[in-house]
Order: sequence, then structure tokens, then C-alpha cells
Amino acid sequence: MKSSGYQVLETLDDELKFDWALEKKAGVKGSVVIIRTDSGVWVSGDINVDLYFDCSRCLTCASQLVNFQIEEEYLPYRDINTGRLIIESEEYDGFRIDDDNILDLTEAVRQYSSVSSPVNPLCDVDCKGLCPHCGSNLNKITCRCKINIQDRRWGPLLDLLK
Ligand SMILES: [Zn+2]
Ligand SMILES: [Zn+2]
Repeated sequence: MKSSGYQVLETLDDELKFDWALEKKAGVKGSVVIIRTDSGVWVSGDINVDLYFDCSRCLTCASQLVNFQIEEEYLPYRDINTGRLIIESEEYDGFRIDDDNILDLTEAVRQYSSVSSPVNPLCDVDCKGLCPHCGSNLNKITCRCKINIQDRRWGPLLDLLK
């Protein structure tokens, strides 16, 4: 049994599937320091996730690199000194180390990614979106409805042309 304060540095290089981009795997890279505490381990890391999402304007699948810091304590189901089951486990809803002493960061990375992901993700800051009339992806084609989506400042002028 390693004593409290013992540290290991782990490098992450993995792929994960997220609920919101089912068809793509997100690349997860980073490094975490795992520090032994009195009751479990403390995980402190810097993680980069190449997240896939649907662009909020044109709805095509794109990816964006999201960076976040993980700071989480993981507690075992059993007391690490006595091996007894920890009785008050219902009161703790944090992360757990399973009975095989495997530290699974998947759920933490999932939660942090969800929080860090953009609310209205864009494939590109200049994404032109979909034409509200014909639904064409305006990044790919210029449709014939163009006159209807002109800058609003020209609204009155365009009315004259109708
Ligand atoms: Zn887009
Ligand atoms: Zn159109």
C-alpha cells in the first residue's frame, strides 16, 4: 500500500464516444497527476478533447478542441486500510475507484467535456448557415434565394423591388 502523498503521472491518449456525437470518437489527450490521499486518490489533470458536434448554423458535423482542468477525488468502495466496505457510500455521489482498483476517468472526462463544450458550436466563425428558404448549406452552394437573406439594412430597398 502506497502512503498518502504518493504521486504518479499518467499520460492520456485515448478515444471516447460521447452521447451527443454518436457516430464519432473524440480524441482525448492530456496528463493527470494521481495523488494518494488518506481515503482515496486525488486526480489533477490537464485534458484536451477533440469534440465533435453539429454546427448550430449549418448542422454539419465539425470538431473543436476543448481544454479543461480536472480536479476530482476518487474514493474506493472499500476502506483502503481495512478492506471493509464503506457503509456511508450513499452519501457520497462523487467518483469511485472500482473493486479492481481501476481508476476510470471516462465519466469525469464526459462530464467536464459536456460543461466545457460550446453552447452554440460553429464549424467556422464565418459559417454562413443554412438558407432559411430552401435549406441549402450556404457554405457549399449559393442558392437562388439569395436576395431574401440580404443584410437587414437593405430591407426597405428590397421591398421597393418586389
Ligand atoms: Zn456551420
Ligand atoms: Zn435558398
